[in-house]
Amino acid sequence: MKQNRAAKRYEGSEATENGRVLTFEALIWGMRPHNRQTVIERFWARVAIGEQDECWFWRGATTAARYGILSVNREMIRAHRLAYLLENGALPHDRYVLHKCNEPSCVNPRHLVAGTAAQNSADMIASGRGSNRKLCDDDVRTIRADHAAGVSLRALALRYSVAPGTIWHVTSRKTWRKVLDRVNKAA
Ligand SMILES: [Zn+2]
Repeated sequence: MKQNRAAKRYEGSEATENGRVLTFEALIWGMRPHNRQTVIERFWARVAIGEQDECWFWRGATTAARYGILSVNREMIRAHRLAYLLENGALPHDRYVLHKCNEPSCVNPRHLVAGTAAQNSADMIASGRGSNRKLCDDDVRTIRADHAAGVSLRALALRYSVAPGTIWHVTSRKTWRKVLDRVNKAA
């Protein structure tokens, strides 16, 4: 039981204060503005902010599953849930915050979407290895060209809905070796 309670605290969906149960949303918006500002500053100080479409990785403490965590009023809050709440203003306690990019430690609000428990498990299945979308020869040529031009692996992974590792395999020619580069005859 003790373990269950600890797990619940980590979830960050609710917090107890003087015996009252607060929703995660109420915890943040119920704070004095000055205290909330401090939380917001502590949050962003731990984020590696990248380009708009890139993953913004959490540099603070994480769970074993690599979800960012931040201590707020002695409660462990999940960083991606806080990112979603700060961006959208609301987060019903029965909603999960899902990663469109499949990177647990990413807190880029553009990569986060609220969903139900059922969507959460479907998302986890979809993000499992081997279920990546299949790339075609044209995708491979475009990925290599864009990467050579400076587009990051993460941005490409997001664009093609595949894992960053898949993109890396393509750009480093560990896979798709037979695909020849498109010859650029322009200029
Ligand atoms: Zn991301």
